[in-house]
Amino acid sequence: MQNLSVNGERLWDSLMEMAQFGATPKGGCRRLALSDEDKAGRDCFVAWCEAAGCTISIDQMGNIFARRPGRDNSLAPVVTGSHLDTQPHGGKFDGVYGVLAGLEVVRSLNDHGIETEAPIEVAVWTNEEGARFAPAMVASGVFGGAFEIDYALACADSDGKTMGEELERIGYAGDMPCGGRPFTANFEAHIEQGPILEAENKTVGVVTDVQGIRWFDVTVTGKDSHAGPTPMAVRRDALVGAARMVEAVNAIGLGNQPNACSTVGVLEVSPASRNTIPGEVYFSVDLRHPDGSFLDGMDTELRAACAAIADDAGLGVTVEEIWYSPPVAFDSNCVSAVRDAAGRLGYDYRDIISGAGHDAVYISRVAPTAMIFVPCADGLSHNEEESAESTDLAAGCAVLLHAMLDRAGVAGDPLTSSG
Ligand SMILES: [Zn+2]
Repeated sequence: MQNLSVNGERLWDSLMEMAQFGATPKGGCRRLALSDEDKAGRDCFVAWCEAAGCTISIDQMGNIFARRPGRDNSLAPVVTGSHLDTQPHGGKFDGVYGVLAGLEVVRSLNDHGIETEAPIEVAVWTNEEGARFAPAMVASGVFGGAFEIDYALACADSDGKTMGEELERIGYAGDMPCGGRPFTANFEAHIEQGPILEAENKTVGVVTDVQGIRWFDVTVTGKDSHAGPTPMAVRRDALVGAARMVEAVNAIGLGNQPNACSTVGVLEVSPASRNTIPGEVYFSVDLRHPDGSFLDGMDTELRAACAAIADDAGLGVTVEEIWYSPPVAFDSNCVSAVRDAAGRLGYDYRDIISGAGHDAVYISRVAPTAMIFVPCADGLSHNEEESAESTDLAAGCAVLLHAMLDRAGVAGDPLTSSG
């Protein structure tokens, strides 16, 4: 069992075949959720799973579950999966890798004639990207209890077509309820979408946490006045105050290393006239940290810094939080299963924190969950040039296989059998 491996070439070939659905001239993919291309990709996945002996079920959000039975089918399944939809100028690996790595786990178990104790399922979560229908991760969100199903099915694209209508149109409006059934464990393999593993020459990232995010709208109020006759000493220049606040935001990120991020991405100056001192400035703030207490502290620092700068400069300021996504700490047993598998298989690995959201974030609300990252070239994603090495993809898949066996147990194997 220790030496059990996956077929990296077959995994690569499946990735390249799936990439034909919605292939773009620059070598990427445009497979928007519930489009004809998405239907073709789903149909292909379903056919592959059926050929591998799986039974297919589809829930009301169009999430697909391909089930390989275990010895004891009264046990809750060990699940893995990700998404097949892409960004408009997406790549071949984001999401797709996690789905097809799951299929490769099933195919490898078949190759070796291994029966697991608990059943195994490979999941395809609908509309992870949020590119066609906002918000992102909406179907795993319904499964995880973050969204109501009626809200999700009513989400419309820019032409006014709803997810519910489009699921019907492409034949993926299932009748199984979305959510409400237990998983023994859930794993998601994914490309890192960041530069850390590549820079440190690591093959596998053991994802322990997902960053929490706080978004703020900040408005600084001064006084519009003429750029010539108004002496420097009496000005109430909202932009000068805002500039100091932008510096302060940056300092908050720098002051909470190693894991904090702080960003001002939008700045609007009013009245935006060359010879008028700006009377009002709006800017956005994005604060991230994997530890909620740090994120709370950064929130406090932000409010204190803005208030102190405004006070000093004779300006008004309002800081309003508009969105909070709490940090996620993945299940320690599932994380250990990933870390142990990476170590046993002899890969260079490190613990890592996800800076991006994934379906696993919502599933982690209702099932013990962890993620496996593999490197991607230059950390580039949401780009047609996204690329990854076949050997790294195979390594992540082998880790996935062993982590799933750890949780599912192998029939007749006293070391892993949970029965
Ligand atoms: Zn993804």
